[in-house]
Amino acid sequence: MIKITLPDGSVREFNIGATPMDVAVSISEGFARNVISAAFNGTTIETATPLTTDGALILYTWNDENGKKAFWHSTSHVMAQVLEEMYSGIKLTLGPAISNGFYYDVDFEDHKITDADFKKIEDRVLEISREKHEFKMRSVTKAKALEVYKDNVYKTELISNLEDGTITFCDHASFSDLCRGGHIPNTGIIKAMKVMSVAGAYWRGDEKNKQLTRVYGVSFPKQKDLTEYLELLEEAKRRDHRKLGKELELFSFSQKVGQGLPLWLPKGAALRDRLEQFLKKAQKKAGYEQVITPHIGQKELYVTSGHYAKYGADSFQPISTPADGEEFLLKPMNCPHHCEIYNTKPWSYKDLPKRYAEFGTVYRYEQSGELHGLTRVRGFTQDDAHIFCTPEQLDEEFKKVIDLVLYVFSSLGFENFTAQISLRDKENRDKYIGSDENWEKAENAIINAAADKGLNTVVEYGEAAFYGPKLDFMVKDALGRQWQLGTIQVDYNLPERFELTYKGSDNELHRPVMIHRAPFGSMERFIAILLEHTAGNFPLWLMPEQAIILSLSEKYENYAKKVLNLLENHEIRALVDNRNETIGKKIRDAEMQKTPYMLIVGEEEEKNGTISIRRHGQEGKGNISVTIEEFASIVNEEINKTLKVFTV
Ligand SMILES: [Zn+2]
Ligand SMILES: [Zn+2]
Repeated sequence: MIKITLPDGSVREFNIGATPMDVAVSISEGFARNVISAAFNGTTIETATPLTTDGALILYTWNDENGKKAFWHSTSHVMAQVLEEMYSGIKLTLGPAISNGFYYDVDFEDHKITDADFKKIEDRVLEISREKHEFKMRSVTKAKALEVYKDNVYKTELISNLEDGTITFCDHASFSDLCRGGHIPNTGIIKAMKVMSVAGAYWRGDEKNKQLTRVYGVSFPKQKDLTEYLELLEEAKRRDHRKLGKELELFSFSQKVGQGLPLWLPKGAALRDRLEQFLKKAQKKAGYEQVITPHIGQKELYVTSGHYAKYGADSFQPISTPADGEEFLLKPMNCPHHCEIYNTKPWSYKDLPKRYAEFGTVYRYEQSGELHGLTRVRGFTQDDAHIFCTPEQLDEEFKKVIDLVLYVFSSLGFENFTAQISLRDKENRDKYIGSDENWEKAENAIINAAADKGLNTVVEYGEAAFYGPKLDFMVKDALGRQWQLGTIQVDYNLPERFELTYKGSDNELHRPVMIHRAPFGSMERFIAILLEHTAGNFPLWLMPEQAIILSLSEKYENYAKKVLNLLENHEIRALVDNRNETIGKKIRDAEMQKTPYMLIVGEEEEKNGTISIRRHGQEGKGNISVTIEEFASIVNEEINKTLKVFTV
């Protein structure tokens, strides 16, 4: 008998040779029908692989990340089979699952695959799937494998790098492929499949190699899932921050200025400024002090911090000056500068914590192919701060930072998030800087603070940086996509390298602990995510323009201006559209700009001293007639719903 431990900690006994599917059936027939993949002692296996030793078994369904991976990778085999049928003599290379589906890299030789072929491929994949072919693994000797692929240089290269005795093929129907394993039981559960696109891809990602064709696909266990997925993609396209950023005139890029260097247009700058003021106000209450540091620093500064040794070669290269031997770097991080601010005077434990905050612009070199809108840029502004405290204060400081981050999320409408705690590798503790005792303190501080604040957490061992543990916030946006926002990180390294000290109650000098934290992460990335999350309908308090006054005709121009003045008195941000256009056109343009309130003024309104209001996104509700005072209270009420006052 063998003992199988399940994820809930329960242990069940089975005969030697029982399969993961047998284990699934022993749990329940219904559950077993949904099991599509398994992992034994951390390694992905087939659901039909006989188990011969004691160990830990995880059974995956479509709802698990690993279940989807097996599903998609298995579909890539079926697609490869179809491609071989349709285009004779092509050479298959690799076909892994990716985060949203799978791809297969193919050398199509003289053939060319076009969009017009996609439907034919999909139909044939589903035809084969319906035949319910089992995926079966088979061991093959190296000599035999090389023989099978003697006409395929790519597979030959892959096999050459494998050890004899470890080589396996996966068979289904009449098709075989070199493969390590990790499949669903049979093709029958693939009920929907779509070829998404084709793109060029160099063999092994090296541009010196031949360019292959990467065929992207996705598949699902239900037709409905595919329909929903395609709708989601359409919605994501509509919400793409690069598209919205242009339409709402927030930011732009110029080839002349340089790739990856965003230009903030007036409305975008206003939006950014509002976000900065919002955070500065909360930070002031939380005891932060604002500092400002330059955009460049002497190379030596980053040699001291260790950044130069670690990232120097892949960064913007040093700037030289007419003076001999003088070199500067574009600032890649604010921390070294803040350490030097701390070092401007001696501190006592009574002075700590010191909390230095800066909206600091940093520059990091990214390859042009990696750049993407505002999410991957070469120059960006972090909502950075560094807290210098005693080890005893870590607990309290961590809780305070979490409070601030949660305040930011709730004010901006991010309600769905988890916190990932990254700790040391349990086995391998030598690679971390700092004493065991301090690490213990810091790790406990994070765990306790997260529990104290009731966060929904995941703990990852071995994911900590070499200089300290961290807490990352992962938020889900309106489309269910996950983004990393907001990081809190403990650091024992920089205080050491910059020889930071404070005098303790024992009159001795001690090292402070440093916390790096950025609730937004960077202004650029945050605004990109916020744009996609809200589709440009930012919370009212953040909107560059909260209202637009639309005059029915030129006759009411003066009244429109009067309304604008009154709104300004109520601190409502508005503008007037006095163009000689129809009211219908004015409304459509305001809708495009996603201006929250459209205020229509004509004869009736002027006579009664009122405005006729229309809320963006509530077209069906009709307009309501109110006074300026009433409108101001409607606006305030809406703002107060999302934007609370930060309290410590
Ligand atoms: Zn496979
Ligand atoms: Zn930092």
